[in-house]
Amino acid sequence: QLTTNQDFIDLEDKVAAHNYSPLPVVVEHAEGIWVTDVEGNRYLDALSGYSALNFGHRHPALVQAAKDQLDRSTLTSRAFHNDQLGPFCQALSELVGKDMILPMNTGAEAVETALKIARKWGYLVKGVQAERAKIIVMDGNFHGRTTTIISFSDDPEARDHYGPYTQGFESVPYGDLAAVEAAIDDDTVAVLVEPIQGEQGVKIPKEGFLPGLRELCTRTNVLMIADEIQAGLGRVGTTLACQYEDVEADIYTLGKALGGGIVPVSAVAADTAVMEVITPGTHGSTFGGNPLAAAVGKAVCDLLATGEHQQNAAALEGQFRESLEALIGKGVQEVRVRGLWAGIDIDPDLLSGKEACKRLARKGVLAKDTHGSTIRLAPPLTITAEELKVITDALTEVVTEA
Ligand code: PLP
Repeated sequence: QLTTNQDFIDLEDKVAAHNYSPLPVVVEHAEGIWVTDVEGNRYLDALSGYSALNFGHRHPALVQAAKDQLDRSTLTSRAFHNDQLGPFCQALSELVGKDMILPMNTGAEAVETALKIARKWGYLVKGVQAERAKIIVMDGNFHGRTTTIISFSDDPEARDHYGPYTQGFESVPYGDLAAVEAAIDDDTVAVLVEPIQGEQGVKIPKEGFLPGLRELCTRTNVLMIADEIQAGLGRVGTTLACQYEDVEADIYTLGKALGGGIVPVSAVAADTAVMEVITPGTHGSTFGGNPLAAAVGKAVCDLLATGEHQQNAAALEGQFRESLEALIGKGVQEVRVRGLWAGIDIDPDLLSGKEACKRLARKGVLAKDTHGSTIRLAPPLTITAEELKVITDALTEVVTEA
């Protein structure tokens, strides 16, 4: 009989691979910004599934869309059409301002798809010589866990012992426009960039980098690929994180919140001139564009089309920043905030990020450390000012008590 948190943790430890090291909380029920564990303890979810739960847990409109679709059809494969894919792609295309959508499932698959599209565009449209296509990436990047993607990661944990690695990538310092320019040559087909580096600890490039990159890519006939999987879909107060600086990329990768926290849904968005390099049989996915995913994805687009969640994230940014900046010098070294997204560097002499998150959990707030002593906060975009204060008050207690 499994009853306590520890019972479930012990079972998992035995039969589930150890590729994560979760906090000792076993969630049984979740609603809105709150989750409850198997022992009845309640927590405010300040991580939102790494931004996959931007609308909170089980948002009624999203659950309804899923339930309605479960009663109609769930999977067709792309061997046939289904009546949900077109409306979903139309809604997403309008939301992000791109002509066409290629649906996949996970974030890593969307990134892989974008890389394939960029290479193919390089050969067929730009005229790069066979097998020479080069894609520029950024130091400190995180784009997923596939063998190609970890080939251009500089995180030893993500990369070690998984070689041989995929060729054709060059990494430059994040936010360094001159370094990107120096790396671009005739074989360069794309630059892949996170508008804000999430896994790196909400690292925000200096103002002007993204517009500069846009200008550089246009001037050199190189595709700008913005990975908006974690940063996009309302998190920073705009629909896309690039829009915060009025930048339009050539290709967007989207995921996480696109599935409303219910099903895995990812997508690549691009204009026809780029997307048309993909022809029948040259790329695909059994589950990509399935009707259940498309129905939920469409409902997500409808929520974002109102602008309500983006507005809430933008409106709360000031309060969030102010209460976190007040901790600088009191156990916190630096904070980076945009919208409802924050990276907080705890003084490593005081607490590790993991220990800080454990103490936060004891105070009823769930967050996740990243890279040593950094904590990432990303509460659902449905949060209120009072609820946000619960998070920052708990963190204030954790650092002042340490
Ligand atoms: N790209 C970015 C920017 C991410 O933050 C992530 C996940 O954290 C991914 C890609 C990979 O997404 P997934 O875990 O769904 O494959």
